[in-house]
Amino acid sequence: MKTPLLLLAATVWSMCLFLLTACGTVPVAESASGGDAAETVSGTADGTDAAETVSGTADGTDAAETVSASDADTVAVTETLSGTDLTVVCFQAGKADAFLLITPNSTVLIDCGEKGFGRTILAELETRGIRQLDCMIITHFDQDHVGGAARIINNFPVSRILQSNSPKDSEEYEKYVKAVTTAGIEPETVRENLSFTLDGVSYTVNPPKKSNYVSDTSNNSSLIISVENGQNRLLFTGDAEDERLEEFLASGDCGTCDFLKMPHHGRWHEPLLLLVEAASPRYALITSSDDEPEDTETLELLETSGVETFLTRTAQVLVHSDGTTLTAAYA
Ligand SMILES: [Zn+2]
Repeated sequence: MKTPLLLLAATVWSMCLFLLTACGTVPVAESASGGDAAETVSGTADGTDAAETVSGTADGTDAAETVSASDADTVAVTETLSGTDLTVVCFQAGKADAFLLITPNSTVLIDCGEKGFGRTILAELETRGIRQLDCMIITHFDQDHVGGAARIINNFPVSRILQSNSPKDSEEYEKYVKAVTTAGIEPETVRENLSFTLDGVSYTVNPPKKSNYVSDTSNNSSLIISVENGQNRLLFTGDAEDERLEEFLASGDCGTCDFLKMPHHGRWHEPLLLLVEAASPRYALITSSDDEPEDTETLELLETSGVETFLTRTAQVLVHSDGTTLTAAYA
């Protein structure tokens, strides 16, 4: 009788060992998808996963420290985190938004100015020898943001279009819809945080959480875009007003930045107090015009917060980031 008992004991022990081993692998797999870069890198040999996780984190510093755990991964990810040569053309477009973000191998356009401004943007693209737009982002459909879009789409290759969720009953919106249909582009309506990387620069698009707001649903439906180049971060806030700003600040996605495109053409909104404090930018930019200038309360807040402020009503502004240092100047 001793032999069968021994066999049974050995079998039970083997099963326990098997279960322990199997259970031991589960937490590693979960941590890999849970966004914890430190555990991911130490728990998996797959460098691709680590790089993807790192590109999705807002804090480049943590990522750099994390990846030093693996020599092979360090080289690839450090290159990404060191950033590239990024130039942002902040057009003098009146009380309207248009920003061209250019790296050696990618071009992104955030908003297109008013109707008729597409011509100016196309001229800039031609002067710079740019052959295509990798991404066009329409923060919302007011005419001072989507106005120039149709002309650009009708005359220039655009690979991808991201848009907000609040269509508008306007001539400019109709022309935009017709242009994307003719070009065979299917714009992507952003409904959840969307991240992508182009030429080492990481973009995160934060969408409105609602389809209706108490006041000005169009402005409050603005997409908010975070651009990370190495250690530099730029934040573009569309025309977000009180409700959308409060929603964005509550989302935890604000974080600090080097450059803040002020929302809604510098109009004063109470949550700007919290936005400027949370973002703590070195530079701010306001897209205003002499006919429709920014509010003085906004300028005073930026001045007392020690933020150097640029106004596109003065001139076009050029921002440059090499991944470590960000500078801004009137062109
Ligand atoms: Zn606007």
